[in-house]
Amino acid sequence: MISIVDTLPRATTDTLAPDLSSAGRSAAAEWPVVIVGASVAGLSVAEALRRHGYSGEIVMVDSADGFPGDRPPLSKAALFPAGETTVYDVVPAIRREALAMSCIFGAAATGVDRHARLLRLADGRSLAYSDLVIASGVRPRAFPGSNHREPIEGLHMLRTAADAGRLRAALARGGSIAIVGGGVLGLEVAATARGLGCEASVIEQTPAGLAAKLGATLAQRLLDLHRAHGVRLEFGVEAVGFEAGQSGSGRIEGLRLTDGRVVPASDILVAIGCRPNVEWLAKAGLDLSDGVVCDPFGMAVDHIWAAGDVARIPGLTEEGRRQEHKQNAIDHGRLVAANLLAARAGLPLKRLEAVPYFWTDQFDVKIQFAGAYSPAAREMVVPVEGREGAIAVRFEVEGRLIGAATWNAPKAMTQLRREIELACLPIDAPKESIS
Ligand SMILES: Cc1cc2nc3c(=O)[nH]c(=O)nc-3n(C[C@H](O)[C@H](O)[C@H](O)COP(=O)(O)OP(=O)(O)OC[C@H]3O[C@@H](n4cnc5c(N)ncnc54)[C@H](O)[C@@H]3O)c2cc1C
Repeated sequence: MISIVDTLPRATTDTLAPDLSSAGRSAAAEWPVVIVGASVAGLSVAEALRRHGYSGEIVMVDSADGFPGDRPPLSKAALFPAGETTVYDVVPAIRREALAMSCIFGAAATGVDRHARLLRLADGRSLAYSDLVIASGVRPRAFPGSNHREPIEGLHMLRTAADAGRLRAALARGGSIAIVGGGVLGLEVAATARGLGCEASVIEQTPAGLAAKLGATLAQRLLDLHRAHGVRLEFGVEAVGFEAGQSGSGRIEGLRLTDGRVVPASDILVAIGCRPNVEWLAKAGLDLSDGVVCDPFGMAVDHIWAAGDVARIPGLTEEGRRQEHKQNAIDHGRLVAANLLAARAGLPLKRLEAVPYFWTDQFDVKIQFAGAYSPAAREMVVPVEGREGAIAVRFEVEGRLIGAATWNAPKAMTQLRREIELACLPIDAPKESIS
């Protein structure tokens, strides 16, 4: 059963440093697995631990006031009026309860004492762990020059259900939204805004936008789709500031561009990427050069693992580039749980072998991407079965399939993911110990 605890679980200490003599160390194995972050990656770890038969204590810590909920709907269905009353859980409550965890909400982790195996919390208390899993995710980058600490009416970011609530209310009023950032998130919100009858503009500093992520063919198709639906696209130009309060209202009135033009807007969404939540680990002695840098098994250092958006784990195709996608967070969680238990049992660890994958839904199109994109790859368009206009694009380097993207063709994507896995899996991959 989940208990939301006011007093911390038994392995918590206010003042005591744990005894890490050899007797103390064997006792340490009995301390809880502590997971920082109660979202996709953290829950994936907890679920996989239980599936593998781990019956020890799991403690989940999150600075939010409860489970944060699933984020992908926040730029899509949750912005429609019905989103106000719909619950978007990562894991349904009934399944979470079956995990029998202790949850500490509203408590930010502020530091780690690796030697003593203690997690420090903002309220001054410490929590002893046998293994610590860092799943603290990312947060949106702020608009340059604005610290977002003094809220400006009509200036939005989108990460939480509360952010989505504010944006939903703004879109329900109609008007016009200017979106800074022509990445996946920005374009999704533009599509949703048009679906709600709002004017939408997207301002992107690079001329080619998503081409470096999806390849030139699908990136161009996507922009054509947006234009056809009336989205104003300003690419190759930078947003440098916003106009607010000129008419005495104190709220957003437009977005200023480098070339001096102002895009009129009643609301602005800043969607210019994210930063990993790692500041709380500054003194932990970990490699934080790109989130938490891990080995291919998901381990940062002994007894500390990382998973999800915050973690960089070298995989099959991406040479360890950090990913910020839901399936990646699930795959990381499963990997870390299996390896954490394998390490305790003295069994070989397994490498991350899941093919990176993400999807995006815009207008009536589902785009899926698996593997990696490289500008050096040969891009080949192949017709496939699917809804009208369905295509698949293959990315090959020296004849090897490293990535693929599909447009309204989920069946083809299933096959392509398998093909990429076979093409990229090392032949001498070690046998899995726990899978
Ligand atoms: C609007 C939106 C739309 C998206 N759409 C898609 C999509 O279509 N497809 C897709 O593949 N992915 C999508 N994503 C990305 C996907 O949601 C993320 O990849 C996923 O949420 C990552 O999960 P996570 O557990 O790694 O991190 P997060 O979901 O970021 O969770 C991290 C948790 O850690 C907590 N935390 C942070 N710091 C601390 C601390 N110091 N102490 C305690 N707790 C802390 C936070 O409160 C948070 O609850 C979308 C994301 C957003 C925001």
